[in-house]
Parts: sequence; structure tokens; C-alpha cells
Amino acid sequence: MDKVTIENLSDYDGKEIELRGWVYNTRSIGKIWFIIFRDGTGLVQGVVVKGEASNEAFALKQKLNQEDSVIIIGTVKKEPRSVGGYELGIKDITIVNHVTEEYPISPKEHGADFLMSNRHLWLRSKRQNAIMRVRHQVVKAIRDFFDINGFTLIDSPIFTGNAVEGTTTLFEVDYFERSAYLTQSGQLYQEAGATAFGKTYCFGPTFRAEKSKTRRHLTEFWMVEPEMAYVDIDENMTWAENLVSYILDKVLAKCKNELNTLERDISKLENMKPPFPRITYDEAFKLLKERGSTFEYGNDFGAPDETILSNQFDKPIMIHRWPAEIKAFYMRQNDDGKTVAAMDVLFPGIGEIVGGSQREERLDVLKTKCADFDIPEEDLWWYLDTRKFGTVPHAGFGLGFERMVMFATGMTNIRDVIPFPRTPQNAEF
Ligand code: ATP
Ligand code: MG
Repeated sequence: MDKVTIENLSDYDGKEIELRGWVYNTRSIGKIWFIIFRDGTGLVQGVVVKGEASNEAFALKQKLNQEDSVIIIGTVKKEPRSVGGYELGIKDITIVNHVTEEYPISPKEHGADFLMSNRHLWLRSKRQNAIMRVRHQVVKAIRDFFDINGFTLIDSPIFTGNAVEGTTTLFEVDYFERSAYLTQSGQLYQEAGATAFGKTYCFGPTFRAEKSKTRRHLTEFWMVEPEMAYVDIDENMTWAENLVSYILDKVLAKCKNELNTLERDISKLENMKPPFPRITYDEAFKLLKERGSTFEYGNDFGAPDETILSNQFDKPIMIHRWPAEIKAFYMRQNDDGKTVAAMDVLFPGIGEIVGGSQREERLDVLKTKCADFDIPEEDLWWYLDTRKFGTVPHAGFGLGFERMVMFATGMTNIRDVIPFPRTPQNAEF
């Protein structure tokens, strides 16, 4: 059944409609009073005027509490000064549930810890509503992008026996009589997928037992991982920049109100058009040295280095050709024998959002890499099979979904962009 919602009010200008939702706030000026009302899709102001509203509705003046659930009937009126551009001339109000306790989250400011322990209610607030609606659009944009471009969704498992990237950041779980781990990346399975379907992706939760508490790490986060057969590192970077700009275009087109609520500087999103600057690790090293950084060659960039690098450009930068020792065993060795065909995409203000590589498709080189990294071949027998049977150059990347939402919304803490964040300190409910 077609029910009217606040986000669709413009379709009902001048008509009498019914809205179902909750009281956000009320105020009164002399003979009229206002109800700020939310239904999950937005906020609207209802005007309650004696004589126009029913006597019962008018009598509710100063009697409604925040979060009372109510059904309101009224006439939609264009009102450019009002949130969303429309107002409701109230006729009737039916109370579904009257709140008798004081609602913990009032429209005033609250501390981060307080909001953290009230996530279930905090989701109702205007700011959180806007963030989650942007998050929803980012999911949709990602799915659409892969659909349009001929990818097949191949879900990687969440329980995995793979511990080939080391067990330090893996959550171990008791899996009947043996151990399994919660996945930290679906990639190896996507490589099997790409040789079966050409282009695949997975998009699901991943887990990292990282104790370090930063504003861009969660223990449970979502990752998008495309994998493509017959694609090299350069084309891989092109896919990454195209995906990112597609997502931001969709957010700009679909989330105007939300971005407005969040006071997001949308020029930051509009600027993110490909091509993104591509610089090698060596060039990045030189840049850092010129800017007086104490960064030592051969390390991974820390947050301060990433900030220095990002500040040199007005777009995300793609750093490629990394020293082999600091990257994963499966990344393709370059002809210099020292570097691998890896790439990271760094965003201004956030740092790494995408990490990817061309994969080592040569069985003999991969076996040597396994030995170098102390990975027993038996543990990877199925993965090595993909190199024995019809191996091809292939590449892919992992895009940290919440970090992408951070950029889209302008949030500076990753906890704000996921409904129920899991951090080393928090997994209570
Ligand atoms: P970082 O160096 O920032 O910890 P990483 O290099 O360990 O990240 P990858 O293994 O390359 O991360 O994972 C791919 C992407 O997943 C990253 O580029 C990032 O966007 C995201 N990501 C990684 N770890 C986390 C985390 N703990 N919480 C949220 N997102 C993450
Ligand atoms: Mg990475």
C-alpha cells in the first residue's frame, strides 16, 4: 500500500495526508503551536491552529513529549522557510504511545561516550538519520556499479581456515573440534571466482582483531572486493577511481538533504573526478623527504605521512609499486625483483580507503613467495590450483566501506558511520 512519507511530501502539495511517526519537538507561540515530527525519512513541521485543527488535537498543546509515537493528519503546504520546503496544516493527531519518562537523548549536545552507550536510541536523531541514509545510498551505488559493469556477486565465506596473512589480527573461533577464523578479507576466494566468472566481487563484513584504537579502525567493518581476470595493475587503478567517483556522484545526486543536514562541503565530493594522481612509492618517499619527514624507506606510511602526501593534491592519490617485504605474499612481483604491483588509494583527511594489487599468477614465483613468507603450500593447495589450471594475469582491490562513508559524509570518526560499531571496547549489544 502506498503510504505518504516526509521525503515524498512534494508529490502531495495542497492535499490532505496522513503521516505515521514520532514527535521530535514541540513549541508554541501564542495561539498556535508547532509539532516537529519525524517519520524516519525526514522532518516536517506541523502547524496547529485553533479552529483549523480539531479541538482534541489543539488541546494537546504542551502535552506531547519527545518520542511520543503519533499519527497526524493535515494538509501539505509549500513553505520554503521550513525544513524540506513543506509544512503541514494539522487537522488531527492520534497518540499511539505516550512517553512518560524523559527521553535520554534530548535535542541538546551529548558527549560521544554517552551516545555510544545509547546507540539504539541515537539512531533516531537527525544527524544519525542523515548518515545512515547516505550509508544506504553508498551500498546501492556499489551494487549498481558492479551490476552495470558486468560483475557477478560471489559471496566469500565468513568462517575461514585461512590464516595465511598471519594470525595476529584474526579472531579465532571454536569450530566444532578445530579452529576457524572470522575472515579479514574475501579476496582469495574472489580469485577463484574471477577465473570462473571473469569479473566478480564480494561485499560483506570482515573482522580484524586490532587492539589499536584509532578513529578509522573497527573490529568489524564492511569491505567491497572486486577481482578481475585479464586485468593488470594500471587497469585495476582505473577501476578503483571509477568506482569511487561513481559512488560520490550518486551520493551527490540522491542525498542533497542529508549532506545539507550534515553540513558537508560538497565541493569536496564534486572534485573527486578521475583521473586521480598516480605516484610510485619511491616518488612518495621523495615527496616526504622534501617536506622534511623522518619517514624511512621500506616502511608503510603512517597517518602523519599520509596527511603530508594527501595535502600535496586536491584529489585522492594512488600510490603504487611498493617494496615487496611490507606487502602480502600474493602480490605480483615486478621485474626489478624488489617491488610488487600493489596500490593504495589515499584520501585527504582519512588516509587509505582502498588497497589492492595485481596478483602473482605465476605458479613458480608464487611458490617461492610462499616459502619466503613461511606459508606451507598444503595450507593453500586450493589457491595454488587456480595457478595450475588456466592461470591468467588478474587484479583486484578492497575498498573499506565505512571509510568511504566517512568521506562522503565528512565524519571524522568511523564509529559514527556504522549503526552498531564494534571496537575493542564495545561489543555489548
Ligand atoms: P590500515 O593500514 O589503514 O590499517 P590495511 O592496509 O590493514 O589498513 P587492507 O588490508 O588493505 O587494510 O584492507 C583494505 C581496506 O579496508 C583498507 O584500505 C581500509 O579502507 C579498510 N580497512 C582495513 N582495516 C580496517 C579497519 N580495522 N576498520 C575499518 N576499515 C578498515
Ligand atoms: Mg592496505
